[in-house]
Parts: sequence; structure tokens; C-alpha cells
Amino acid sequence: MNTGSSRKLPQVPFNLTDYGRVYDTFTWAETEKELDWVRGEPVNIAYTCVDRHVRAGKGEQTALLWDDGSSRKSYTFNDLNDLTNRFANGLKKLGVRRGERVVLFLPSSPEFQISLLGVVKAGAIAVPLHSKIMDDAVQEFLLDSEPVAVITTATLRPRINHSNMAFIRRLIVVDGDGDDDWQTVINNSSAGPATEWMQREDPMLLLYTSGSTGASKGVVHVHEGALQCYQTGRWVLDMKEKDVFWCNADPGWITAISYGVWAPLLNGATTLIYSGPFNAEQWYDVLNRNSVAVWYTTPTFLRALMAGGRAVARKHTFNALRYIFSVGEPLNPIVSRWSQNAFNRPVHDSWWMTETGAQMIANFPCLPLKPGSMGKPVPGVYATVVDEKGGELPPLEMGQLAIRAGWPAMMRDIWKDRDKYNSYFRQPPWYLTGDLAYRDRDGYFWFQGRADDMIKTGGERVGPFVIESKLVEHPAVAEAGVIGKPDSMRGEIIKAFLVLERPYVWSEELCLEIRHFIKTRLAHHLVPDEIEVCSQLPRTRSGKLMRWVLKSRELGLPVSDSDKWD
Ligand code: AMP
Repeated sequence: MNTGSSRKLPQVPFNLTDYGRVYDTFTWAETEKELDWVRGEPVNIAYTCVDRHVRAGKGEQTALLWDDGSSRKSYTFNDLNDLTNRFANGLKKLGVRRGERVVLFLPSSPEFQISLLGVVKAGAIAVPLHSKIMDDAVQEFLLDSEPVAVITTATLRPRINHSNMAFIRRLIVVDGDGDDDWQTVINNSSAGPATEWMQREDPMLLLYTSGSTGASKGVVHVHEGALQCYQTGRWVLDMKEKDVFWCNADPGWITAISYGVWAPLLNGATTLIYSGPFNAEQWYDVLNRNSVAVWYTTPTFLRALMAGGRAVARKHTFNALRYIFSVGEPLNPIVSRWSQNAFNRPVHDSWWMTETGAQMIANFPCLPLKPGSMGKPVPGVYATVVDEKGGELPPLEMGQLAIRAGWPAMMRDIWKDRDKYNSYFRQPPWYLTGDLAYRDRDGYFWFQGRADDMIKTGGERVGPFVIESKLVEHPAVAEAGVIGKPDSMRGEIIKAFLVLERPYVWSEELCLEIRHFIKTRLAHHLVPDEIEVCSQLPRTRSGKLMRWVLKSRELGLPVSDSDKWD
């Protein structure tokens, strides 16, 4: 068995050594130069990810590494160039035009990466959906994004019912027969140049995410985001060419795109795709046998590994592993301490959101790490904490985390909802994040919670409204209120408060039936973990649900007399 002392950290110099000086002097023009982007000239993020390396003579370097738990396969930049050209040319042949949407309903796989790069290369807008979502949720996103084509697998295909959607002209299925077969599209198309040249402000990605009110919203990202994905990959994640980088996010979450595809490929690193099951022993093997140098994960996965015990981790050497990074939810200091013990490496937290497109605040390798803090802003990004009027607060005062608008990866729209988009920027010059935080005297940011009702469970962003709306579709449910309840493993779990229709009576069977109702229509991770039945829900005089009252009661916190209910 290996001991902690034999598990040495690889000694490799940081890409960014002098954070303070660079933060004060950096401009994004420096990144443009590194990516060979010239102001006024068209670009394409997919070309910069793939073709640029081939043209620079690096075609034989490994771009993708796929591991499914029992077998492995690798793709060079030459391979990826060939495949993405073929797929982009194939899409064009099938009639997909610039600016049209193509939905990707795919699990983590080489097909996902190749399809995403191919769609974007062809000048279309990629719309990745979470592979766990079920029929009703798929339907909602298809109706909203109005894609001309959908790419999926034979397994996920039954969840797509597009009989009433004439705008969908093509269904491309991996391992499918009947519709357009994914491999046939590749085989029958030219491997010649396929890049559609785009303006930097042209959309390339439409990604659905939850808000605390209303249906999920489509966040629009543009090609310009490449600058920040590249630069943060280089400075925050410290990626080097040929490093193996593993980001274990689902393709429906932006992390899997900005950091599972764009950042590593832009940096000439190898991106690892793992599509096997989760268990501690298996994941440590994945890190080892693929010589992962940098691993980007979530506190939920780390807590699950922690539950598997330190001894399991300490059987492995992790010789190549330089950094573990985390994102998506608060990283408890205890997880960081465990990691130090288990891996002989700390976990570096990072903060960003679907709307920011790329990392904004992070614990940089070159800076002293403060466990429990999200770290410091990325050079080129100005982060601060503001009061209700948008005034900047001094260190150690809690307020809303705000970013000066105008960073390269910033979302450029909310699909079909300009008012919603504008609401993020209602206090110029700030983009308001909805997160509460404070800054310490050294300029490190500390997450304090959400200013609204949004839930983070197992790293997934969940809007209570979407679950409440589906719950009341069940015939037994008259009213529903959903909150996040703190949980030591998953950050938060989902708790639903229900008022039943008469004459329904609460029972174990009804509980199972309602949970099944959500699971089969929305997604497994949206099923309430706890359900409590009550005679009424707390509402304002105008009828608005007061979720904070539900939460206060759940947490045993005082509720004012006027807010008392049930
Ligand atoms: P998403 O758009 O799904 O990535 O969710 C973004 C939200 O996740 C943020 O607004 C935060 O509430 C939360 N989040 C992301 N990173 C962190 C972090 N490092 N610490 C605490 N919360 C985080």
C-alpha cells in the first residue's frame, strides 16, 4: 500500500506566477494574439479548438481520450479535425444553416464532443440537453429552441416526441436505424474544410438552466467566449499542452462544454471523457490509468468519494495529478481537508455560473489557498459585492456578488426573453449574480448563499417553480411549494410541501406515485427527496408563495406572527 509520503506532487512551474501584476495590467487583447484572432476578422471557436492545432503541426497530439470503464480509445487532433469536418459538412448537406439550432441530447461520449464541434463549425447554434431529463422536459426545450435537427442515441430517442414539431427536419441517431444514422452522416461526407466564418458576437450555444421563478431559461453564448475559456484553462486550471484533463460534468451543464470541450482543446490539452459508472474504486482507477493531470469536479462527487473512505484513495498513487478543482456549490473546508489527506492535494474551488460562460473567481495554483473561500477574480474580470442600490460594499460586508459587465464569455441574451436578460443588468455597470458573498481584506471572495429560492442539489441547479408546476399536474395535488433543505452529502435535498385535493388521503402508495410522476416526466434528480403534506401553504395577500417561510420552518428558525401558517 502507498503511504501519503510516497505520493509526491509533480513539480511543474505554474502558467501564471505573478497574479497581482497580471491582474493589474492584463487586457484580453493579449489572449486574442495567443489565439491568432485579429480584430474585425471572422472566427469560429470550433476551428480555434481543432484546426488551428493541426495547422500548427500538432495534429498527432491526442485531443480526446475515451474511457468507458472497460475499454479506452484515443483521437488525435487530426482525427478530430477529420471527424468534425465530416460532421459539419454532413449537417450542411442535410440542410442545416448558419444560426439554426441543433439539439444535442447525448450522454458524455466522443459523439457528443464531435457533434458539438461539428454543429458549431457549421455555424449553427448547439443546444445541449441534460442526458437525465425525461419526456416532458425534453418537449419543453424542443418547443422553445425550435431546432431544425436533433442528435441523440438509440437509448434516449424514445424520450423525444416531435410529432407536433414540423420545424425538426432531421433526427440523427447514434447507433440508430430508421432516422439519419450518425455514423452514416460522418461516412458519407467530405473531410475537407467545413468552417463557417462567424462574427465574434454570433451565438454558438444555447443552454437551458433553472431560475427561481418561471420556466427554465435559454442562456445564449457567442464565439467570443473562446478567449476566456482558453485563458482560464491556462491560468486557473494550469493546463499544459498534452496534459490529460478530466471534467466529469454531464453534457447538459455548461461546465461540460466550457471546460470539457473548449478550454482543454483551446489549450492543446487532452480532454478525457469517462462514460462508465460512479464508484470510488473505479474513479480512482480512471484518474490513474489515464494519467489525469488536472481534474475538475464538484463537491458532491468529492463528498461521495469521501464516504467511500480514505483507505480506498490511499491505495492509488495519482502520480500525474497536479490539481483538483471544484465548482457548482460551496466546497466545505472538511472536503478540502479530506482531499489533502486522501490525495495529498487540496481542492481548489472556483466560482462561475451558466450565465457567466467561464470561470470568474478561483483559487489560483500560484496563490495561497484559503479553504472555504472561492478565491480571487480572474484577470480581466472585476468582481465586487454590492448593496441593494448597487453601491460597492467594503471588505467583510455581505451583499450581492456583482461583476462589471463586459467580460468575453458573458451571456449575450436569454432566448426569446430580452426582459429577463436585462434584469441581470438592472443596476449598471453590474451584472447581478443572485449570490450573496463578502470579500475579505486580501481580496478573496466567500460564498454566503443565494439571494433567491434557487436550489443546488448534488451540483445541479434546480428551480423550485418547475417542480411545483409539475407536481400540481398530478390529480392528487392541489398546491405545491418546493425548497432546498441543507444536506451533508448533496449540499441540499429537495423538499416539497403539498396540499392535497379532496378526497385524496396521504399514503405511502400516493407518495411513491407522485415521486414516480416527477421522475418519468421531468428527471430523476428533480424528484423531491422529502414530501410533507399540509392543509395550506404560506402565501402573500396577492397569493405569491412564500418559500422563505417554508424554509424557516424547516430549519426551525423564527417566523413572524404575520407569516405563521398551517
Ligand atoms: P450553474 O449555472 O448551474 O453553474 O449554477 C450557478 C450557481 O451555482 C451560482 O450562482 C452559485 O449559486 C452556485 N455556485 C457555483 N460555483 C460555486 C462555488 N464555488 N461556491 C458556491 N456556490 C457556487
